[in-house]
Amino acid sequence: MANRDVSEILDPVIDVCSDLYRLGWAENHAGNLSYRLTDEERDRFHSDQPARTVQLERPVTGLGGASFLVTAAGSPFRLLVKDPEQHIGVVTLAEDGASYDIVWGYRGERRPTSELPAHLRGHEERVTVDPDNRVVLHCHPTQLVAMTHVHPLDEVEFTRTLWATNSESILAIPDGVGLLPWMVCGTDLIGAESSKKLREASIVVWAYHGVLACGPSIQAAMGVVESVDKAAATWLLSRGPEHHAIDDAQLRQLADAFGIAPPARFLP
Ligand SMILES: [Zn+2]
Repeated sequence: MANRDVSEILDPVIDVCSDLYRLGWAENHAGNLSYRLTDEERDRFHSDQPARTVQLERPVTGLGGASFLVTAAGSPFRLLVKDPEQHIGVVTLAEDGASYDIVWGYRGERRPTSELPAHLRGHEERVTVDPDNRVVLHCHPTQLVAMTHVHPLDEVEFTRTLWATNSESILAIPDGVGLLPWMVCGTDLIGAESSKKLREASIVVWAYHGVLACGPSIQAAMGVVESVDKAAATWLLSRGPEHHAIDDAQLRQLADAFGIAPPARFLP
């Protein structure tokens, strides 16, 4: 069983994974999460198992020596709470970023999520624009995914639609969303394309699939996903001949009132 020091770190992860399952955004084996540990947090994890070393196909030189808490491959989020030491683990990257050691968890020869390369690329890029970034979260927000089936897959149009649904949308995602066309998941290509988008926005929408969301905390990353899915739900429910929404002048008033500077490509 995890000791109390470790529980302080694990509990928020377990809570949000349980919430994602109950929301229907991490069905079956879907969903994965990584959290960059501070050195002090990393030192709390002790294991009597010998470390297992795994080579990465592409080195992540920008993250050499960093440690991450990462959900396991094939582990249903609904089961995390029952046995975190099986369904979550800690990996520490080598100084050259070419491999990682499994230093805690993944009991029963489990491994980190197969999306780990995409997570690491995401952390590597996001931290260059947000040095406080700690989290990368992947899940399947139902209404947002539904929106990708009926809304033009244009990043600017998509962001403007989300912003127009609710006065607080532009505050939740002031940088808008990145949007990728459908791609095969679990590949280096989707990881590479996502990391480019994360230079400009804290959330990337994968058409017909889900999202990759970042934040300085688990709550922050989850909050972005909640806000975006709520906006998508509102838009889906309000489509019809009488549709009207927050217009550009009103978006500008919101931006001025709350002191945010939306990118010009989204709000000229
Ligand atoms: Zn997925």
